Amino acid sequence: MPEHFDVLILGAGPAGLAAAEILARAGRTVGLVDEQAQPGGQFGRERIRQRPGRSGRKLLEWLQHRNGITYFPGHRVVDCDPHPALVTESTRGSTRLTGGALILAPGARELVLPFPGWTLPGVFCAGGLQALAKSGWPVRGRRIVLAGSGPLLVASAHTLRHEGAEILAIIEQAARGSVARFLAGLPTWPAKALQTLGYLPTWARIPYETGAFVAEALGEERLEAVRIVERGRTRIVPCDLLGTGFGLIPNVEAAARLGCVLTPTPHPSVRVDGLQATSLPGIYAAGEVTGIGGVERAQIEGAIAGYAAVGNLPKARALAPKLAHWARFGEAVNRHFALRDPLRALARPDTVICRCEDVTLGEIDSAGGQGSVKLLTRLGMGPCQGRICLAALAELRPGYGTVTGSQAARPPLFPARLGTLAGEPAPEPHP
Ligand SMILES: Cc1cc2nc3c(=O)[nH]c(=O)nc-3n(C[C@H](O)[C@H](O)[C@H](O)COP(=O)(O)OP(=O)(O)OC[C@H]3O[C@@H](n4cnc5c(N)ncnc54)[C@H](O)[C@@H]3O)c2cc1C
Repeated sequence: MPEHFDVLILGAGPAGLAAAEILARAGRTVGLVDEQAQPGGQFGRERIRQRPGRSGRKLLEWLQHRNGITYFPGHRVVDCDPHPALVTESTRGSTRLTGGALILAPGARELVLPFPGWTLPGVFCAGGLQALAKSGWPVRGRRIVLAGSGPLLVASAHTLRHEGAEILAIIEQAARGSVARFLAGLPTWPAKALQTLGYLPTWARIPYETGAFVAEALGEERLEAVRIVERGRTRIVPCDLLGTGFGLIPNVEAAARLGCVLTPTPHPSVRVDGLQATSLPGIYAAGEVTGIGGVERAQIEGAIAGYAAVGNLPKARALAPKLAHWARFGEAVNRHFALRDPLRALARPDTVICRCEDVTLGEIDSAGGQGSVKLLTRLGMGPCQGRICLAALAELRPGYGTVTGSQAARPPLFPARLGTLAGEPAPEPHP
């Protein structure tokens, strides 16, 4: 039997939780679905070896005491329809949840920009490496280089150092002047200035090189060193792990599957109005799925969506100035840490772009353009369904952007059991 709620929320990150709070206070029943075991999203992820921190404990208590909220942790949404309904898969089987309204808050993922050697074991996304370390993967004593762009590199360095790693360097591609202008503007957002101050002990101890990038990951069986280019000079730095961060891109697949209008940009986001309403009636979107802008912006958007879903439009509209203030922070990050062209020219003809289907850049280039590339190479047709390679190609070969599946996502949104799609219960575990 499907379970029905006044409002369904996809994603228990800052945006989804802010919406859930407003809805619960207004007496609505809420189905809050997230594939992670703990609430809090990417930002609220806590170290597994610690006792739950204050924010995590508060969140859990808060969810448990709100009678109107039914929380579905460990439930991945693998399909949806605009009625609205969510089909989820968990270790306990599949569930179909329906709602009077739906708030999409699935956040964002890291952009992967392929370069020679990026598929070697030991090369990670910077945020992914941070998440692994928080979940208990041992990094103590490992020599790590972090490279790419933006504040996430520093946040990752902070966590990894805390877990005992030796951070050899942060290699920031943005120019020194750009980083300096970003820092000079931070007092406009005191919470962010404070967060940055918290990272200072890490920052002060690690070489932070601007205007530089990792051009190649080197090694036979696994990563042994990286080749760093700085103002035309090249040097080799031996290391155990490399974390790369080139920014975030919105998770629009569920919205695309529903048929919501997306922005016509290389990395689309969900188009919303001032009340976070999408192009479809009763469906709202909040947080980084509508554009990359940080935790505070995500929370405000979640609150606006919550108020809009209960019909409290004055409260929703009253948050517009606060949202504009935090939207400017997101714009500042995007402007000062915009990727520079040399990064888009690192991949060679033999560099693998689609690692699910083992497709190189040379094969893509010789497949003769956007119409035929998917048919001839199977690019984007593996388990990740283009989440990594099509987003990368939008950077490396902008003209091929229309091959991206995100404007017309098909089910399942993630690899799923056949039984899930048929609505069957999960198989019994083997004795
Ligand atoms: C890897 C990574 C690391 C980051 N580290 C930092 C940091 O150290 N400091 C900082 O200030 N900011 C960090 N950020 C940015 C910050 O996390 C975001 O600004 C903020 O979390 C956005 O909130 P959100 O609610 O929009 O999305 P999120 O926090 O991403 O929450 C979205 C939630 O939706 C769930 N979800 C998505 N798809 C599905 C699905 N199909 N089924 C079920 N559940 C789903 C996810 O599990 C997630 O819990 C990081 C972002 C990323 C991607």
